[in-house]
Amino acid sequence: MEGPARPYTNFIPPYLKESVGKWKTHKVLEPGIIEHLDTSGNKIYTVRVASTPNGRYSTETMRKISAIARKYAGASMRFTGGINMEFVTKDLNDAISLKTEMEDLGFPIGGWDGHLWNMTSCAGYFHCALAATDAPSILQNLANNLGKYFNKEELPAKLTISSSGCPSSCGNSFLTDISISGIHTEIPIVTPEVSKCDLQGTAYTCPVGAIQLKQLPDGSRTLEIRANLCIGCGLCVGACGGIIFETPEKTDGHAISIGGKAVPSRVGTTLGRVVVPYLPNEPPYYKKTVAVVTRIIETWKKDARKGERIADWVDRIGWESFYEKTGLPFYGQSMEYLDVRGMMTLRDGGTR
Ligand code: SF4
Ligand code: SF4
Repeated sequence: MEGPARPYTNFIPPYLKESVGKWKTHKVLEPGIIEHLDTSGNKIYTVRVASTPNGRYSTETMRKISAIARKYAGASMRFTGGINMEFVTKDLNDAISLKTEMEDLGFPIGGWDGHLWNMTSCAGYFHCALAATDAPSILQNLANNLGKYFNKEELPAKLTISSSGCPSSCGNSFLTDISISGIHTEIPIVTPEVSKCDLQGTAYTCPVGAIQLKQLPDGSRTLEIRANLCIGCGLCVGACGGIIFETPEKTDGHAISIGGKAVPSRVGTTLGRVVVPYLPNEPPYYKKTVAVVTRIIETWKKDARKGERIADWVDRIGWESFYEKTGLPFYGQSMEYLDVRGMMTLRDGGTR
């Protein structure tokens, strides 16, 4: 946007402007309603509302949400980084009324302290050619089954869940406590059509350097994919029509990772580790995926100490114990290597 810099405070309600930079403390009054106190004794109230897992709304719904914001929250609201909705009211009664009206629209209120904070996904199949799984639909099924953790049943600590259609992780996978990542389990194949592509440029798209230029006996050049390095991200397939997955409908699926978080507490910022390397895509309900995620949450809930996020809990009990307690199959690799590359390694039973 061009023009002179404008302070962001131009866009917030007057009762919030008065306290900007003077906050003293806050407390959760009930799931989803947070009271903030400034140094002059002024109070305001944040109402936190769950979003749709993909952050996708009809304009009709957005108009209803806007009307509620106009009525109770100074005609203003925001989406958090985890795509929850947040409204700020001046009065507690307005916060309570806003909560009731948003619940009537079907949006649960909560997501704070020891609860499920947010669920986010990338666009997946909606408009991305690289997707190996229907990330928004998987997340919607998880939301349908895990809603009680957003505002009713308490968990040991904050829980975030995400899903991405492929290992590129646009849905923020690997930095959430539990994440689903689509995976193409085939190694893509190079067809003669590859000659129509920018070979060097296509090779550069590979994030792990698995594509190399190759000279053919007739002097022409082609590309070669090193199967032992390929993580099935599909970026080369998106970049060049001459590289294809042969039977993605049979071989695409998704992996489950746990233990990602982007905060300095306890064991610090951690990347998620792949604990289930492959589950088939089974729409519409993805029952196996929902069952595995539910089992992980239930085990963590029962076994973790208060304040331990999933990464902290596993750090204390160890990976072996994690597999024993959850009953998930253990593949025998060192957990140090269970990053995105581990998806492919584990998929083949560690033979690659
Ligand atoms: S994570 Fe993959 S499928 Fe999802 S938007 Fe990014 S590239 Fe597309
Ligand atoms: S699928 Fe991804 S990792 Fe495999 S060769 Fe293509 S770009 Fe590289």
